[in-house]
Amino acid sequence: MRKICVITNNRADYSRLKTLLKALKDRSDVELLLFVVGSHLLHNYGYTIDEIEKDGFNVTYKMHTEIDGRIPVTMAKSTGAAIMELSSAFYNFKPDMVVVHGDRFEAMAAAIAASFMNIFVAHIQGGEVTGTIDGHIRHSITKLSHLHFPSTEDAEERIIKMGERADMVFNFGCPSADLLLETPLISFDDLKKEIFKYAKKEDWKNNFNENFFMVVQHPVTTEFSYAKEKIMPLFDALNGFNHNVLMLWPNIDAGSETMVLEIKKFEKEKNGRIGLFPHFPFDLFVNIMRHAKVVIGNSSAGIREACYFGKPVVNIGTRQEGRQRPGNVIDVDYDAEQIKSAINRHLEKGKYKPEFAYGKGNAGKNIADILATINISQIQKKITF
Ligand code: UDP
Repeated sequence: MRKICVITNNRADYSRLKTLLKALKDRSDVELLLFVVGSHLLHNYGYTIDEIEKDGFNVTYKMHTEIDGRIPVTMAKSTGAAIMELSSAFYNFKPDMVVVHGDRFEAMAAAIAASFMNIFVAHIQGGEVTGTIDGHIRHSITKLSHLHFPSTEDAEERIIKMGERADMVFNFGCPSADLLLETPLISFDDLKKEIFKYAKKEDWKNNFNENFFMVVQHPVTTEFSYAKEKIMPLFDALNGFNHNVLMLWPNIDAGSETMVLEIKKFEKEKNGRIGLFPHFPFDLFVNIMRHAKVVIGNSSAGIREACYFGKPVVNIGTRQEGRQRPGNVIDVDYDAEQIKSAINRHLEKGKYKPEFAYGKGNAGKNIADILATINISQIQKKITF
């Protein structure tokens, strides 16, 4: 039986691995090893390991790999800690294959540890282009991986151009599209009830109505020294509207402490109009996105997921630079006037035509079929250019 080890480090990759994990779990020819690392184990980031276990997956091994600090040096050290932990875990559990997703530092650590240990590496969602350090990390993981599952044709082509074997590249779309397409739509009243289970502030609950913006703004590692300057224009722009704001906590990357400080000040200043949340389960996250008037910020969800519902998106700054865009996205700089004008344009226009830009479903099952059956004997990579 093939032992396949999947690494998940945060909510973002979990929503892109869940249907694959289910398909692997259901196979009789696969032993699934599930390693949970990174911010899944941190309470400030929603302690999302709970969600994984609630979904019925057995966690094989969990490890703390985050060095506190949220600055560039702690990101580098966290990568080192993850290499140490994961190499011991691979040594003990002896997987035949390691599956990593995307561009996070733990995925990089897993690909490094597995490569040195002659373990076959499969990478999901490689080949996409973005800003921040993620772009560098994503392509480095591609070069350490033997097998590739990009989500778009553009990404597939780029991986082959990077010298990877074309017969080891399979584009089935993104497994998060499987989930998006199967998540039931709930009414605004039900949405409100669900959100209120997570909301702490009564004044925000009293104000919350259908006219709300969903905001997710993460730090950009390569712009670490300007974290404050990069978030202030967003607040200036939001000041120009009476809409309620449902805002998610930024991720763990360098710069997030400064951003959190500013977000908290803004929340206080706006007194009941800003609701701040660490995390929502995926089905709720999707329904919030469906009901929001506009999705604002720099989350990949704005580019890769909101298009499935034709949701208007204002994408701010460089974090998603280069990623293939559907027609519902307006790109703006870190500039209050530009952000305001893009929001106004969207409010005038309303919904866009839905686009299934990152897959049409069944990706998890298709990827599992390849992982379970492909020949993994050739560990030495042959790179051609
Ligand atoms: N997500 C979720 N709940 C949340 C926030 C995010 O399920 O509260 C999922 C969702 O699929 C989203 C993905 O995580 O598309 C990535 O979101 P995030 O903005 O955290 O990360 P990014 O991919 O931009 O780094």
